[in-house]
Amino acid sequence: MQKTDWTEESFFGMNTLTVLNGFGVNAELAITKAKNEFMRLEQRFSRYISDSDISQLNRAAGKNSIKISPETMEVLNFAMIMSEISQGLFNILIGPMEDLWNYKIASSVPPIDDIRRILPLMDYRDLILDTAKNTAFLRKPDQSADLGGIAKGFASDRCIRILSEMGVPSACVNIGGNVSTLGTKPDGTPWIVGIRHPRLDNELIGAISAADRSVVTSGDYERFFFDRNGVRWHHILHPDTGYPAQSGLMSVTVVDHNAMIADALSTALFVAGIDQGMEILSNFTGTDAIFIDSRLQIFITEGLVDSYRAVESSRTSIL
Ligand code: ADP
Ligand code: MG
Repeated sequence: MQKTDWTEESFFGMNTLTVLNGFGVNAELAITKAKNEFMRLEQRFSRYISDSDISQLNRAAGKNSIKISPETMEVLNFAMIMSEISQGLFNILIGPMEDLWNYKIASSVPPIDDIRRILPLMDYRDLILDTAKNTAFLRKPDQSADLGGIAKGFASDRCIRILSEMGVPSACVNIGGNVSTLGTKPDGTPWIVGIRHPRLDNELIGAISAADRSVVTSGDYERFFFDRNGVRWHHILHPDTGYPAQSGLMSVTVVDHNAMIADALSTALFVAGIDQGMEILSNFTGTDAIFIDSRLQIFITEGLVDSYRAVESSRTSIL
């Protein structure tokens, strides 16, 4: 009997839960392939897997260049472009500072001397890529690349491409809340992707209708700890200070055709804040954003006027 309805598959990878949904007869096989590709990419990108390209690059920091796979070159290359466009606010060499903050177990702020010691390791221009030879090199010992702000987007694009090439007409890839959609829903209406309320668990603050789009959010509620005084310290760091970015935002959502752009850009815009964020955004066409500030005011770019729906519409402004 032919299978004509939905296939769903959930799995852990890249430190998060991923759910793949696809419609139609080809979905089952396509989703298996997409999942395999996702796991393969994690083996290349993770700095917690010792023989990944990124671990090898980080171990060779200050010593020698290493050969990297084409997909690692692609993602590092784009990371460098994003660093240039964001004037360093997106920083692929954030690794040692993330290690210092150690969000997995931390309950207090690291000593300022340690933060100062690590800051000079975070000049992204110390990552040298040779696209002709397929090699990468970090200039200084103890530097490390961290793809946490971009790899999931890249993986999402790959999954969508596989699903599309295998003839799945309608699919949804959800990587830890970052959603990419292929086509519309089978009934021809767009997917509805919820935007989480930054302070209320399991509540939405709005929703985006999205067909063939990625909707990616960076927020201060995704990974954080509270210190003894109840202050929140989150995982998106300002590369100039080494402390969590304080740009007056609680979350930024980016909507784009390309999930890698949306992923890296959501991180960059979160660090930048609304004003500088809008300048960065002007380098991209067809890319939109939703900013939620610390007073829970919602700002959307013009391109989203028709596709955004607020739960409390009165507080939404158009940028
Ligand atoms: P999440 O992955 O939690 O959904 P992001 O896409 O914003 O959210 O990525 C945050 C991750 O990006 C951090 O865990 C860290 O690995 C990395 N990161 C933190 N600050 C920066 C920065 N300024 N530039 C680039 N990457 C960053
Ligand atoms: Mg990101």
